[in-house]
Formats: sequence, C-alpha cells, structure tokens
Amino acid sequence: MEFDRPEKRQRTGEDASVHRSDIWFDDGNVVLQAENVQFRVHRILLARHSSIFKDIFSVPQPLGGTEIAVEGCPLVHLTDSAADVHYALTKLFSLFVPGNEPKAPSVAELTASLRIGHKYLILHLWNDAVARLRSTFPSTLKGLIERLKEGSTDIMTDDTATAIRVPHSENLSQLVEVVMEVELQTVLPALCYRVLVLEPLETIIDSNFLLSDHTRAILLGGRARLRDMTTEHISAWARAQTHTADVSAEMPSQAICRQARYDFCLDASQKRLPIGPWTHELPTDLCLRCHKAARLCLTGMVNTAWSKLPGTFGLPSWEKLQDFQIA
Ligand SMILES: [Zn+2]
Repeated sequence: MEFDRPEKRQRTGEDASVHRSDIWFDDGNVVLQAENVQFRVHRILLARHSSIFKDIFSVPQPLGGTEIAVEGCPLVHLTDSAADVHYALTKLFSLFVPGNEPKAPSVAELTASLRIGHKYLILHLWNDAVARLRSTFPSTLKGLIERLKEGSTDIMTDDTATAIRVPHSENLSQLVEVVMEVELQTVLPALCYRVLVLEPLETIIDSNFLLSDHTRAILLGGRARLRDMTTEHISAWARAQTHTADVSAEMPSQAICRQARYDFCLDASQKRLPIGPWTHELPTDLCLRCHKAARLCLTGMVNTAWSKLPGTFGLPSWEKLQDFQIA
C-alpha cells in the first residue's frame, strides 16, 4: 500500500495543499493531520489503543471555528510524518487489502510502528515491532550466532523476508537511529553488528539514507574497533609457538602448517569481524596443536567481542542496558 496517496483535494481553512488520505471514514468523528495529509477516524477506537489519544480527546474540542473543524470533526494536528501515521493507522485498524498484507514489515514500516507506538503508547504497534527486533537482533551470543549462520534469510529485500524487509530504497542502518530514539538498548548491539556484517563500508560512509553524523560515527567506530579485535587475537595466535615437535607420520609438516596459519591469518585479519560462522571453519591442514590453539584463540575472540559489543557501539555494559516499556 502506498503512503500519502491523495485521493481528493480538501479545502481546509486557507491551505489548499492539504490532502485527504485514503483513510477517511465518513462516519469518523475526528480528523488527524500529519504534515499536509488528513485522516478521518473514530475517536473511540484510537482512545482504546492509546492512553495519549484518550487524554487528547478528553480535552473539550471547540467545534464552532472553521479553522479547527473539518466536516464537523475536530482537527488534531500531529507532528509525526504523514507516512508514519498512514502506516500506523493501517496496521492498527487492519486496513491492508485482504490477503495482501506483507509477511514482514519494511524498515520504514517498522520505523513507523516504533515511533508511533512509543510516542502514543500503543501496545499493539509497539509489541509487534519489538518482538521482531528482539528475535532478529538477539541479546545472547548463541542467538546472534544462529542468526548469522542462517545467512540473513530473516532480512531480505523482498517478500521472502521473515522478519524485516529491506527494499532497495531503504537500508538496515536506518533502524539504528530509530531504535536509539525509542530507547531499545538491548537490541542495539546485535543490530549494529548485523548492519556491519550486511552493509558495505561505502553505504555507511557515503549513505544516501540520511544517517545522522552521530549514527554514522557509532557504526564506523564500532567497525574499526571490531576489526582491530580480530587482528589482535589472530596475530597473537599466529605468533605463538604452537607447532608440535613430535611429528607423527599423519601430521602435516611444519612448512604446510605454517602456510595454513599464514593464509588463515591473512584472510581473517583483512576481512573479518570477530563473530561469525567463519570462526567455526578452520583450515584442515593444521597440525593438532595448532588446530587446538586456533580453536582456543577463536573462542576467546568471540567471547571477548560479545562481552565488549555494547561498549564497541558507545553503550553501557550488557547488564546495564535498558529497554523502554509501555506500562
Ligand atoms: Zn602446527
């Protein structure tokens, strides 16, 4: 469903640019206006979902002045974007074309649910969005590794996405900004991490997706720290004298083992973030002792990276992260 599709020109006060949305119930008894788009809905339904709207409607609305009344309904101006309000009302009142509701919301739609749910305390919008985020960006190491192993089938560009749809016109990094804004701290470390895994560096540096400088700095700083972490752990392993002296017939020679270590280190240090499926894929031609040492090194690296992950993105430690809740 398209956002902001004006169906009719609406003469409202002196502003001829105001449009009537396709969400316009003739028997609605309040008109919401976001930017230059108006929505005519039912007060009682909005108030049932939101204590904030309930409070707004409990203030007597004068109906006499033409400036504040549209077709006899009080006009309530909202400071949100028209697109956010359109999606929120569509989802809240299940106004999707039957059978046409997307399996997974897009980044923009998820953003609308988070912002509107957070601001107007609408549990129905908030819970669905938060559940998707928590499952896609878990706050346990096991959960994150599982998501990474699945190869991002939960986040796709099309309708095959199971959790979040990221159309080509949108970008996962945009979620970082809104998740910070609505105070969902436990989601942020894995979200930022997955953005770094999925998005090329150029997208973050040279983004057309209107990232704030603050968000860009958080992501780029995190990326640099994580890459340093990989290099530090892998180099320590590479320098350690682990190759076994009592070579049996089945063991690879020192030269072969050294070459395998060199190739692995070069590949890991240059390309890898410290948590990912690659940490389970060791070269097969390492000797037993070098293999064991590598396994220890990678486990240590993954655990260190996980425990430091919030700080990597400028957040407090895991135990101190807090999420906003609708009481
Ligand atoms: Zn060896």
